[in-house]
Amino acid sequence: MLKILEAKKILKHHFGYDEFRPLQEEIIKSVLDKKDCLVLMPTGGGKSILFQIPALILDGITIVVSPLISLMKDQVDSLKANGINAAFLNSSLTDIQTSENARDIENGKIKLLYVSPEKLTSEDFFYFLKKLKISLFAIDEAHCISQWGHDFRPEYTKLSFLKTQFPDIPIIALTATADKITARDILKQLNISNENQFIASFNRPNLSLNVLPGQNRISKIIEFIKNRPKQSGIIYCLSRKSTQDVAEKLKNQGFNAAFYHAGMSSEARANVQDNFINDDIDIICATIAFGMGIDKSNVRWVIHYNMPKNIENYYQEIGRAGRDGLKSETLMFYSFQDVIVYRGFIGDENPNKELELAKLTRMQEYAEAQTCRRKILLSYFGEHLENDCGNCDVCKNPPEQFDGTIIAQKALSALSRLNQNVSTTALIDVLRGSAKQYILEKGYNNIKTYGAGSDISFLDWQQYILQFVNQGLIEIAYDKNNVLQLTEAAKNVLFENKQIKIVKPLEIKRKSEEQKEKVKTVSKTKTISNELFERLRVLRKKFAEQEKVPAYIVFTDATLEDMSSQKPVNLEDMLEITGVGEHKYRKYGKQFINEINEFIKEKSLEGENLKGRTYILSYELFTQGLSVEEIAEKRNLKPTTIFSHIANSYTQGKEIDLSRLISQNELYKIIDAIKTIGKDKGLKVLFEHLNEEIDYGKIRIGLAFFEKNS
Ligand code: ADP
Ligand code: ZN
Repeated sequence: MLKILEAKKILKHHFGYDEFRPLQEEIIKSVLDKKDCLVLMPTGGGKSILFQIPALILDGITIVVSPLISLMKDQVDSLKANGINAAFLNSSLTDIQTSENARDIENGKIKLLYVSPEKLTSEDFFYFLKKLKISLFAIDEAHCISQWGHDFRPEYTKLSFLKTQFPDIPIIALTATADKITARDILKQLNISNENQFIASFNRPNLSLNVLPGQNRISKIIEFIKNRPKQSGIIYCLSRKSTQDVAEKLKNQGFNAAFYHAGMSSEARANVQDNFINDDIDIICATIAFGMGIDKSNVRWVIHYNMPKNIENYYQEIGRAGRDGLKSETLMFYSFQDVIVYRGFIGDENPNKELELAKLTRMQEYAEAQTCRRKILLSYFGEHLENDCGNCDVCKNPPEQFDGTIIAQKALSALSRLNQNVSTTALIDVLRGSAKQYILEKGYNNIKTYGAGSDISFLDWQQYILQFVNQGLIEIAYDKNNVLQLTEAAKNVLFENKQIKIVKPLEIKRKSEEQKEKVKTVSKTKTISNELFERLRVLRKKFAEQEKVPAYIVFTDATLEDMSSQKPVNLEDMLEITGVGEHKYRKYGKQFINEINEFIKEKSLEGENLKGRTYILSYELFTQGLSVEEIAEKRNLKPTTIFSHIANSYTQGKEIDLSRLISQNELYKIIDAIKTIGKDKGLKVLFEHLNEEIDYGKIRIGLAFFEKNS
């Protein structure tokens, strides 16, 4: 119990967060009780602190096994940035660095040691380990141990020795791979029998889900990026060549883009990756080879230029957006062409053919969904979402259905007259009465339905035919050059007038118009906080460059966003910002406060009273009779912040009934404490002096009272 309180303190002190997320507390508790456990939690769910916090509480050193060298460095940098001593050992270090690290480890200076599986399972390292007092083994990316997982690594299978050689030391295995077979396999391979299993929801509500037809992709992408200046994003393409083409086109439009694929030299790849991580390149056009080794938390959007071949891949790739929990967008282009290409890849000889085709079909169904997409995704992973999500394109723009019987009859009848032996393009050309040479040569212009659908655009026809395929009226003969064929069900439509409902093709233009409107109508406060965000971003970049770490290690986007909306201008307010722990406060707090003050000053010269406004709003609500909690909820701020607004209003001479905030007894205690230890030692010292019995907000009030009346 006491330990969990300590865990909460560390969460605030080192990491700058107020609350645990769902399951984090239970998992940490289980680790502190020295139970083995397996954690399934999605990317960005917050797995790292599950072993980092226990590492700080337990006696000894925590060994973290991590498969990727680049991720190790990132995690160690990010721990150091929070004032935690950590190190890594892997093949990228020189002998001198290694022996320096080894010395620090033996001296007990290091609380967390990251190692590669190769290192951990090597013989000389084993003797080194035996000398140490180990508190915990953490196996990150634990699915690598299983052949069922998607990145099996043979070295991981040797990790079973941990339980035999160190039976009393708890193991925590973590993965973002959801499926149950892999989970069972992980436990078996690690020799863990009596474990706690924690399965978090795989829902990522901060990711928007959008699918658009794969026509005019480049111009749609350009429009999308234009509305999101300076944001980091990834565009996944199917082929190496298209990564280059897309990047080239974006560069021609003045965007800061680069490409990445497995055919490049490893040096060139590392270079592109580093530039992306350091925010020097905004947009990466990549094959799926990209993303494994990066932990960049501020990827704001992911676009799929082509549909992925299954939902696992799709979910993993969109999962690279929004690790910091902020709103992020995903957009997938879908065209039938992709399905055909994948079918070609899978091939007839493939022993897994059935399975891969079934997965492809699920992906296709997702792409064509007319119901909440998130529900479909989560149900694929065996999770049930109660309500529609409200953050996918289908939820936001429910499709309008109409009677499409006549349209269907035209298409089916034309197909029948073409002897069920043409491609989609030819069928549409006939329906639209095209005078292309091949149409005339084949005499297609003589059939009865030639030109019967000339009132419908080519693109809309593509959409309709896709819907007829989905409704089981038309089949695509993959084994016969993908020609279209009629099904039994088509007969009912052709001969018995069976009614068919279809959906209007998504009006791409309307959608992008809406987007433009949205950009135009963003509120003034929003633009102001964007402006401040930009300035803080520049400052963050300066520190990142000085320290040679990625910008998100200095502060995440979530932290900068919180700063730009709360505009903290003093110590306590700054420590209230999410992601600002003591260490980062000491290192960067002053400069960020200065920047915010500077901004407020400039704005006030322009007639905007930013600081005053936020204080006064809280004060006004308070005088209207709302409690601090109610104001906090209404304003989406923390109660402590409201306390500090009211305290400020009070010192500035506003009339305030303090008895609504604090009892007389509490006030006396606080004043005694201030008299004993002084008023400038900071809230925390006072808080501790008062045996942690009176919360920070009230201490703020006590200080204000003291200042005004002494
Ligand atoms: P994962 O390893 O599961 O992909 P991380 O451990 O990198 O995720 O965490 C994702 C982000 O969420 C990080 O920026 C981390 O600091 C942040 N985070 C973790 N726990 C919390 C929390 N309790 N409150 C706020 N942010 C958190
Ligand atoms: Zn939805």
